[in-house]
Amino acid sequence: MLELKNVHTFYGHIHALKGISLTVEEGEIVTLIGSNGAGKTTTLRTISGLLTPREGEIWFEGQRIDGLPAHKITEMGIAHCPEGRKIFGRLTVRENLELGAFLRKDKDGIKEDFERVLNLFPRLRERLKQPGGTLSGGEQQMLAIGRALMSRPRILLLDEPSMGLAPILVQQIFDIIKEINEQGTTVLLVEQNARLALSIATRGYVLETGRIRLAGPAAELMDSEEVKAAYLGG
Ligand code: ATP
Repeated sequence: MLELKNVHTFYGHIHALKGISLTVEEGEIVTLIGSNGAGKTTTLRTISGLLTPREGEIWFEGQRIDGLPAHKITEMGIAHCPEGRKIFGRLTVRENLELGAFLRKDKDGIKEDFERVLNLFPRLRERLKQPGGTLSGGEQQMLAIGRALMSRPRILLLDEPSMGLAPILVQQIFDIIKEINEQGTTVLLVEQNARLALSIATRGYVLETGRIRLAGPAAELMDSEEVKAAYLGG
């Protein structure tokens, strides 16, 4: 469904991605793990068109997408839920969700997805009129994921959904990610919490300073001595 071939991305002269190749098959949850600065966020930003690779190719469902504008990539079915949530603080919960669908014209489908999101996140239903900025951290994360789902993506790129959340909420968010996947959305998940990410993923990639260091089925990575030592706390 999604394939990166030898992708190199730069910030000015900083060489952040040094030849990333990876695939995501339809229906999977694939996770990218790795330490701070490994290039996980940069990988997602490159896929969603916020950054353009200097070298390499990105293919989505048979079409080459590197170099396309971000809104085109969203329209094709790739939604990016960024790190740090980035919801609109002054807009209400309802308005934030509606903005997630701004490229769509199918009114009935939008209505359906609005209900689907509120069923996934019942707390948002109680807070539809509240400004996004007044939500708790966990609720803002739910809103950010809900907004991404409002574009009815074929694949959801999730950046650090656990960041800054209490453990009980983290578990809840991960249960919901699983449910979203079971409802038919493919997921590419970036996470610092490697244990949790590998527990819901089908496969994973370990990034280290802009390169893929290890790749494999999630269960194998979880058992790997190297992953245990470096990312699972021994
Ligand atoms: P984290 O979990 O800390 O967000 P990450 O794996 O997502 O880490 P990236 O944010 O992708 O890492 O960063 C990869 C490299 O690119 C790092 O060395 C970082 O310092 C650099 N980098 C990221 N954003 C910029 C920027 N806007 N300008 C310059 N360098 C950047």
